Amino acid sequence: MDPAVAAFRNEYRAGIARSYNGWLHGSFIFGVGIAYIVYSALQAQGGGWAWLSIAPGFLVANFGEWWLHKNALHRRIPALKALWQRHTVQHHHYFTEAHMTVDSHREYRIILFPPYAVIGLGLIHAGMAALWALPFGAAAGWAWMVGGMSHYLLYEILHTAAHLHERPLLRHLPLVNTMRRNHWIHHHQLLMPEYNMNLTLPIADWALGSSDLQRGLFGTLFNGYRMDHLKPELRERLGRETIPFTPRRLTPPLSRD
Ligand SMILES: [Zn+2]
Ligand SMILES: [Zn+2]
Repeated sequence: MDPAVAAFRNEYRAGIARSYNGWLHGSFIFGVGIAYIVYSALQAQGGGWAWLSIAPGFLVANFGEWWLHKNALHRRIPALKALWQRHTVQHHHYFTEAHMTVDSHREYRIILFPPYAVIGLGLIHAGMAALWALPFGAAAGWAWMVGGMSHYLLYEILHTAAHLHERPLLRHLPLVNTMRRNHWIHHHQLLMPEYNMNLTLPIADWALGSSDLQRGLFGTLFNGYRMDHLKPELRERLGRETIPFTPRRLTPPLSRD
């Protein structure tokens, strides 16, 4: 492992509280998130067409993720400096294109959002849902909240899966494999401010031109580990020495260091 990355990892690990448990951290996020989804779904019951509001709730969350990641996590906005510090300074130093994986649940500390984020995001989606409910009714607002929170929980699953050691299941599961390759490209030191800003599904990346792939939406979503659809400017910029271009060569940086 690169000595600078190894030193940063040691320093970061030494600062994790002894009482920290990654499984507990994840359980809190998913406990709160699932309760929020179940409660909202119960309120939306009998809403008929209102259930379709899950889709805009999910989509707005996807474009919001893209915006926040590009503008607040990779640029230092004074009011949101803590987000930049946690993401660009810590997360992107802990994981580079050559060192993408964790070895223990204690390292989930650097992958999962802090526990209070699920509450903050729940409130943001509730606020947007209240606006949505004005023209479309209360059931539509509750369905929006189901879509928004489902997007966040899917983000935590897919982002964590992108930082796990290579396993046949992760390699073959649709969307999971896509996001592992997608996020690996994002962690490339040269590419992180510009490419693959979605961490859940690359919908906004595809729509706004920041995907590293030259493919339609379906192909981008189900690309898996394929590297043959890379945009020509990326191939040129990185050169064949810097980045592996075939799925077979993608494996080593994702597997055990
Ligand atoms: Zn990451
Ligand atoms: Zn990033």
